[in-house]
Amino acid sequence: MPRPLVATINIAAMQHNLAVAAERASAAKVWAVVKANAYGHGLLHGMQGFAGADGLSLIEFDKAVDLREAGWQKPILMLEGCFDHADLVTAARYRLGFAVHCAEQIRMLELAIRERAISGPLDIHLKLNSGMNRLGFRPDAFRAAHARLRSLEAVRDITLMTHFANAEAPDNAGLPLERQVRCFEDATTGLEGERTVANSATDLLHPQLHADWVRPGIMLYGGKCGSGAAADFGLRPAMTLRSELIGIQDLQKGDAVGYGSRFIAPGPMRIGVVACGYADGYPRHAPDGTPVLVDGVRTGLVGRVSMDMLMVDLTPAPSAQLGTTVTLWGEGLPIDAVAEPAGTIGYELMCALAPRVRVVAAPQPH
Ligand SMILES: *Cc1c(COP(=O)(O)O)cnc(C)c1O
Repeated sequence: MPRPLVATINIAAMQHNLAVAAERASAAKVWAVVKANAYGHGLLHGMQGFAGADGLSLIEFDKAVDLREAGWQKPILMLEGCFDHADLVTAARYRLGFAVHCAEQIRMLELAIRERAISGPLDIHLKLNSGMNRLGFRPDAFRAAHARLRSLEAVRDITLMTHFANAEAPDNAGLPLERQVRCFEDATTGLEGERTVANSATDLLHPQLHADWVRPGIMLYGGKCGSGAAADFGLRPAMTLRSELIGIQDLQKGDAVGYGSRFIAPGPMRIGVVACGYADGYPRHAPDGTPVLVDGVRTGLVGRVSMDMLMVDLTPAPSAQLGTTVTLWGEGLPIDAVAEPAGTIGYELMCALAPRVRVVAAPQPH
């Protein structure tokens, strides 16, 4: 018997969410983001769910090769560019577009071309640091970088790219969205090439900023970005994490539960022990009351999450017994409803799903 903990991936929900992203983006093309093992959903599930996208984008070169070997023919974009010379060779060989975000990457590219280690046509995304101060050329260095790339015969298309820090909260005092937008416009005016600036929050909330390509990630998996719930945008959860009750305890008033005895029974009650813990990716910081579904009935966590187990209040589910299904997040329980009390975001929970958790595609309706 394998452990009863399973993450079920709903390919139809991914297709649906992609359609929502594409519809919001109107004429723009869609890079479906599948970095981090398709946000924990499995790379090949991502390829299946987003077969209708115009391209796939990610970070990891070995995974990009996996996509090509699995038959993905359409464009691939490497969002952080090439980390070393070997990546450039891989990019040229497997027709991977890649970001160029710093002078060192241009030098590496020029050298590889000069040494004939790679040849064109190469498609490049030239990245502007429009204020987030993560990756990208500063505005005063952007045009020179563009000219330097343009002078390389092996370079075919140069797409102009930036990334927004606060698309879900555009009035952020540290860096208003509007300031980044203006910065990008100023730095790119008059330069030829397509543009891409939009993550999920931009795609959903700022239709005027869609440009030529959008780059949605979290929304495709049914996670929220911004203050609204994912369901408000018609997004469906792509991952449902389910387990079972593997133990039941009848408590008396004053009985303590789990490590540190964080929860003390206020009176007689039944609790269930669920096969899922922080070594599976469930957040250890989840407080008492974090929502859980037992046989579809909403109840809450009691006591600290341990490595392989967590405990839940069975008061609202009196017929629960050993083997009863428990939903940790997904269908019927948005992942964000678990992330928020635990002080994190849906992104982190999806991505942190541990390798020991079985990930299986749901049977497809015919
Ligand atoms: C991860 C990533 C995205 C997708 O962001 P979401 O918030 O998940 O939509 C888009 N662009 C870049 C450069 C990224 O690294």
